[in-house]
Amino acid sequence: MKCETIKRNYREVIKFIPEGIRLVAISKFHPNEHIMAAYDEGQRIFGESHEQELSRKVKELPKDIEWHFIGHLQTNKVKYIAPYISMIEAVDSLKLLKEIEKQGAKNNREIKVLLELHIAEEETKYGLTLDACRQLLKEGEWREMKHVRICGFMMMASNVDDAEQIRSEFMTAAKFFDEIKHDYFAEDDNFCERSWGMSHDYQLACQCRSTMVRVGTRIFGERVY
Ligand SMILES: *Cc1c(COP(=O)(O)O)cnc(C)c1O
Repeated sequence: MKCETIKRNYREVIKFIPEGIRLVAISKFHPNEHIMAAYDEGQRIFGESHEQELSRKVKELPKDIEWHFIGHLQTNKVKYIAPYISMIEAVDSLKLLKEIEKQGAKNNREIKVLLELHIAEEETKYGLTLDACRQLLKEGEWREMKHVRICGFMMMASNVDDAEQIRSEFMTAAKFFDEIKHDYFAEDDNFCERSWGMSHDYQLACQCRSTMVRVGTRIFGERVY
């Protein structure tokens, strides 16, 4: 794809994102040159899902980019991204949370994370069911973690055309956010993020209390794997 096309796509995408909602430009599998096209339009938050690809891009691209890790993260990879990552968006186990705590401590920093919810009807290994998430928070080990900051939730809606179903999944996540905010984070202003909405449903997500949309294809074109 031409850089000019990416710039045009980018301007088109942000037109539909209301003020107060942030865009995470999902640049996985796309080259530096294309990332720089969005950067030149003012974009500063990018999301990647593979550790090696991310670590390479971090070295090569401007230092004022905020990187979000959006994919499934293996515990043995946490140490590589811990020094620089702005946010790890898809935490779905206590084991991973503990490893982030450990690596955060080693790097003497607090790492922001989102817990990934599994609400969509699709079968996937990833994400916490609402009950599993309640359980994890109730057990309370996270309270002792001084180098992990739980900032909210991320989720993916079902990959369907039915807007009502997608809306209902987003609203389930939003309602769950309110429950958990009330029960555990009422005094914690950091717990404020709701990361939902991708290329095909980000406009809907913006109507369903998303604070952060993750858009890739609509900006950079189809990924070549
Ligand atoms: C790839 C990816 C996206 C972006 O998807 P598009 O359909 O290209 O916008 C968003 N979130 C996650 C978790 C992803 O893996």
